[in-house]
Amino acid sequence: MKKYKLIVTAIIAIGVILIGTSTPITNLYKSTNLLNKGFNKIEDNKDSTKGESKDAKEPSNHKKYLICIDPGHQQKGDPNAEPVGPGAPYQKARVSSGATGVATKKPEYILNLEASVVLKHILEGKGYDVIMTRESHDVNISNSERAILANEKNADMVIRVHADSLDNSSKTGASILIPEKGGKYTSNIYEESNKCAELVKKSMQESGIQLNGIFQRGDLTGFNWSKVPAILVEMGFLSNYNEDQMMSNPEYQRKLMQSVADGVEDYFTTK
Ligand SMILES: [Zn+2]
Repeated sequence: MKKYKLIVTAIIAIGVILIGTSTPITNLYKSTNLLNKGFNKIEDNKDSTKGESKDAKEPSNHKKYLICIDPGHQQKGDPNAEPVGPGAPYQKARVSSGATGVATKKPEYILNLEASVVLKHILEGKGYDVIMTRESHDVNISNSERAILANEKNADMVIRVHADSLDNSSKTGASILIPEKGGKYTSNIYEESNKCAELVKKSMQESGIQLNGIFQRGDLTGFNWSKVPAILVEMGFLSNYNEDQMMSNPEYQRKLMQSVADGVEDYFTTK
């Protein structure tokens, strides 16, 4: 009986020793791995100096660009104020409720999300990574918060989707808004935003979309908080009876968003 107890104790002791040493073994394995990685790095560097390494070419050929789509507005505007730029003395409403279609009676926030979802699918089909600032209407995300989200994700381009409205119901056509060139908060992102806007403009014109032009804006919170390039597409005028109906037509939405996506693709391929 004593002998049996001794054997059991010995087995338990061996078990404890094995458990005790398993961590150092894992660590040893990890450090060997690290050593291997370090070794590979040296190898990579050696290869890249030859200028013909496959790895050396990868960053430019295989970089997956991230596009952030911001469907403008939301179900309920938030009139509480936020600064128009980081540290700005001026404040504006966190987010307004947007316009309403004169013919369709459709609120802008619904139209913006409809078109944004179409744009998302087209861009994903082209192989881009896409994030959205909102995918439903019942949210409360201010314009600065939308910009900060894109900053935090380090998006390569932000596309804000809106529709215009004016007292003058005869005014029609799309517009592209970009951050102001000499803007206090936006001078760093002007150049790339403008490049993209020019290519989107060209693409829209080639598709036969009526376009009023590219306009710099220094007063938009969503641009002023952005640290990454951004454009805002005003798809057309909700205050014009025909254009309002046209913008809700799925075929026109697809045509319009295809032209935007093609322009964005031109921007990335010539970057
Ligand atoms: Zn709007």
